[in-house]
Amino acid sequence: MLYKSTRDSSLRLSAAQVIAQGISKEGGLFVPETLPDVSARLAELAPLDYKALAKEIISLFLTDFTPEEITDCVEGAYTPEKFGDAEPVKLTALPGAGNGRLLELWHGPTCAFKDMALQILPRFLTRAMAKAAPGKEAVILTATSGDTGKAALEGFKDVPGTRIAVFYPRDGVSPMQQRQMATQEGENVSVCAIEGNFDDAQTAVKQIFTDPAMQELLARQGKVFSSANSINWGRLLPQIVYYFYAYFRLVSQGVLSLGEKANVCVPTGNFGNILAAYYAREMGLPIARLICASNANRVLTDFIATGAYDRRREFFTTASPSMDILVSSNLERLLYLMSGDAALVRQLMEQLNREGCYQVPDELLTEIQSTFWAGCCDDDATKSAIREVWEHHHYLCDTHTAVAWNVAQQYKQAVPEHRPVVVLSTASPYKFPEAVL
Ligand SMILES: *Cc1c(COP(=O)(O)O)cnc(C)c1O
Repeated sequence: MLYKSTRDSSLRLSAAQVIAQGISKEGGLFVPETLPDVSARLAELAPLDYKALAKEIISLFLTDFTPEEITDCVEGAYTPEKFGDAEPVKLTALPGAGNGRLLELWHGPTCAFKDMALQILPRFLTRAMAKAAPGKEAVILTATSGDTGKAALEGFKDVPGTRIAVFYPRDGVSPMQQRQMATQEGENVSVCAIEGNFDDAQTAVKQIFTDPAMQELLARQGKVFSSANSINWGRLLPQIVYYFYAYFRLVSQGVLSLGEKANVCVPTGNFGNILAAYYAREMGLPIARLICASNANRVLTDFIATGAYDRRREFFTTASPSMDILVSSNLERLLYLMSGDAALVRQLMEQLNREGCYQVPDELLTEIQSTFWAGCCDDDATKSAIREVWEHHHYLCDTHTAVAWNVAQQYKQAVPEHRPVVVLSTASPYKFPEAVL
């Protein structure tokens, strides 16, 4: 399996190279050259436990890693010590909620779904560095809206051959998130608050990555930049696994028979998690609709409705801070996957940079709308959803999960079909105690 860039289709890099590098030199994001089709293998994959399934899916993409390397990465990442159970994720039925399910992804060490990827990415990265840049040290720069930062620090702390620096918006993270980051232990970690919001942090980090003078400075010191944000392919890949896992549990719980389609509803910020669902769907997993849930920062809701992406709008600091984003990086991968047109993607991204907006061609919008459905809700509706889920189903959910829950209800009302919806639960309710209370 080789990888090309969303802004340069002629590139061909190995998985080790793209994980070590993080982002392509011309600013594009790495994508697999082709997607493996597993639709004929569903019955064979269905009975596997999480780790066995992860090994199968990951080895389709990391073809330059040995089976032993992949096994070491998976076994070291998803331990019962870190995730509280042999199975790191849970598909939960809520009493009285019918066929719907919540996919709990927050049983890892930092209580957010980012652990699913960030416990394994450092293991990929050290092996990728040994192949692609032997003897060099990886310098990880990470922009965070709160959860990525802590999960990345925890994943990379004291990992030999790596250093990590995290940048978070000074006024944009919860007190719990701020303290989680400020108290991080480890010899190779640093944390920095910036003036500005998440988008400012992410834009600045991308600029540092692609600055030739910075790259040269690092090269002289025997170091290379890499990324722990979802622009790194090594972060998206592990997220594909849990969509397969959730689907197979729907089958084993008798909700669906193998091959029948489910919908998934994903609380979305940088478009990484929902893009992993799209990859799973393209690989042949029977998913009908991908429901994209946003908070008051509804730039994606508007985009999916109109094809116009416009970040020139007020930025809201909400009760679901990990989704307070106006520039969703991974949308670039979707535009490329659907259009196959690197020149178009380059032009749209340059326009976004320059003017703050772009409009996709009609055919592309039609294709996006045939796959995605989008909705949003504000903080009041988020809090009502927490109350409603608690009162009706005796389940306490966090603010991000509540946004997705609310949008899933909107979908059911708007669209007359009754496929089971899997709502992704991305953080523990105890991570955002003020809002939940
Ligand atoms: C990061 C995060 C999200 C958004 O995920 P993206 O991959 O950025 O779309 C949602 N919920 C929580 C709790 C998060 O930490």
